[in-house]
Amino acid sequence: MSSNNPILPNPAQSSLPASSPHEPGRFSGISLPQPRSAHRHPLLISLTYVLGGLFWLWALNPRLTAWLDPNHVSSSLFAVWSSTLLIVASGGLLYGLLKSYHSMEHRARQAQDLRLTHLMEQMADTAFIKDRRGYYLYLNAAGARQMGRTVTECLNRDDSALFPAGVASTLIADDRRVIADGTLLVRESTFAIEGDTHVLSFTKWPYRDTDDNILGILGIVRDLTPKRSLEQRSPHDCANLETCVQQRTAQLVGINQALERQIAARIQMEIALRESEERFRQLAEHIREIFWVYGMAEERLIYISPAYEEVWGHSIEALHERPRDWIEAIHPDDRPRVEATVQLATQTTGRVDEEFRIVRPDGALRWIWARGFPVRDDAGYVYRIAGLSEDITARKLAEDQLRRQQVELTRMSRLSLAVELASNLAHELNQPLAAIVAYTQACLTLLRQTPTDPRLLTGTLEEIANQGLRAGEIIRHLRELVYRHPAAQGTVDLNALIHSVLHYAQVELRQARISVKLALADALPMVSADDIQIQLVVLYLIRNAIEAMNEPETGPRELTVSTAQLDPASALMTIRDTGPGFDPTLEDQLFRPFFTTKPGGMGLGLSVSRSIIESQNGQLWATPNPDGGASFHFTLPIQAHP
Ligand code: ADP
Repeated sequence: MSSNNPILPNPAQSSLPASSPHEPGRFSGISLPQPRSAHRHPLLISLTYVLGGLFWLWALNPRLTAWLDPNHVSSSLFAVWSSTLLIVASGGLLYGLLKSYHSMEHRARQAQDLRLTHLMEQMADTAFIKDRRGYYLYLNAAGARQMGRTVTECLNRDDSALFPAGVASTLIADDRRVIADGTLLVRESTFAIEGDTHVLSFTKWPYRDTDDNILGILGIVRDLTPKRSLEQRSPHDCANLETCVQQRTAQLVGINQALERQIAARIQMEIALRESEERFRQLAEHIREIFWVYGMAEERLIYISPAYEEVWGHSIEALHERPRDWIEAIHPDDRPRVEATVQLATQTTGRVDEEFRIVRPDGALRWIWARGFPVRDDAGYVYRIAGLSEDITARKLAEDQLRRQQVELTRMSRLSLAVELASNLAHELNQPLAAIVAYTQACLTLLRQTPTDPRLLTGTLEEIANQGLRAGEIIRHLRELVYRHPAAQGTVDLNALIHSVLHYAQVELRQARISVKLALADALPMVSADDIQIQLVVLYLIRNAIEAMNEPETGPRELTVSTAQLDPASALMTIRDTGPGFDPTLEDQLFRPFFTTKPGGMGLGLSVSRSIIESQNGQLWATPNPDGGASFHFTLPIQAHP
């Protein structure tokens, strides 16, 4: 096998596709002429067939000459037939061997062709195969791109159909020279195509079959335009380029330094973050409060600080094993309420604010105040709840003590009022009573004397009557002292007032586990009253309600305070409780001084409250609730506009 070009591959050696011009084969989707060598197999086979036959004829029939002898016709005929059969069999065998060799060779060629096609398709330069006439049989994708056409548009067309006449004529002339000379051609040409100057390097060589027959042209075209334009730049351009490169380098150095600074800052930040996390961890692990984090996706506590073990008396490991461990330690009376809050928090609000009791393994009761806050991601989605749980047992005990002291103080003050009242009464009444006794004794002495003129008794009896009247005056005066409340008339916002009174009473309400409902009227006009005295009345009514609901057998403990505008001239406030209520026939008696049904009661609260409200041009009354409990109502005049 010959090669006309020692550097570039010989098409015959490269096993390009094998198919005849009459019987086109496939090569990367195009038709290529098949090298003739492949079609010489049948000829070779026929030749081998005849030579084999003659050999067997000579080898097996040495008496060939005898065959010509008429005496040996029959044996000669047999020899001819047997020789013929052997010739046919040997020929068939040889044909089969050649056929299988040929198909193996064909498959190997196909594989090589595929690899070559792949290689040509990967090239950045144009690669092509033309037939002898200069028609494109193959063009790679880079070539089509360079020509600004599709591969299909270029195939089976020559350069005159694809390039301007001036360009095409040069290319066609080169092709003809390659075909005529059968040698490699290398040319660098500058073409003006559609106003653009292109510098192209052509390398073309003949495409031959195994017999060195030229089937067409193989070629590679490289676009040197960018390279040449760089080379052709003037020294001034080069200097500019140098400056540009220097500027760009300086920019890149700047960017690099900024990046380095950013990386350093980020590292600093990460260190700071780690340090702050560490500080936070140390803080969380040393504070007395229990710090905890609940994960919404995980549906469990994902962190709890060691204080949990101290307060709950349960281990954190046990909590990790049984996530409900903390909740099962809650006092049975408080557990449903806490569970409801936790459910609401984990499903929607993310907020927790609950006080509850836990029972430690040693049976001790502890009061806990748990608060939780939602932690949101950038999209505002609550993905965690972070919280603190505090052991408030000491505070609760202090509150209890305070409450007991308050109650005691109230009882004492009531007692001392009663004592003071009684001693005042005793002191004030002592004198008229002594006078009455003395006058009565004088009358008796006179009556015992006989005869006695009854008219002498008139003056003494008048004195007795006077002293009796004086005693009545004293009692009335004392009552006035009790009930007289000098009022400082001003403007009062009843809705605001109820908030401050509830604030005073919040400890008592919480301890009695009473829930408060407010039903306050919007835009309630101001009333004309003494703010402090009305606060005392409301506090008194609320304390009565708490005491009423503290009775053991009462059911739900609910205090409802409502306000309303009753008519254009007056506003109404109602304090409603769910205590045992009162007998409706006793409604009037409740407001009498010293009426009480409580063991340590004074029976003055309601009567004093009524006198205060009436002194401020309002009314106070009570009604039993249809569904149990009592309601106390009072009105006050709406502040007249000046
Ligand atoms: P005290 O509270 O010292 O008994 P009060 O004048 O405040 O005196 O109350 C008088 C009585 O009215 C109480 O003893 C009680 O019987 C009744 N009373 C007051 N408030 C309520 C209430 N909210 N529910 C039922 N009864 C009440």
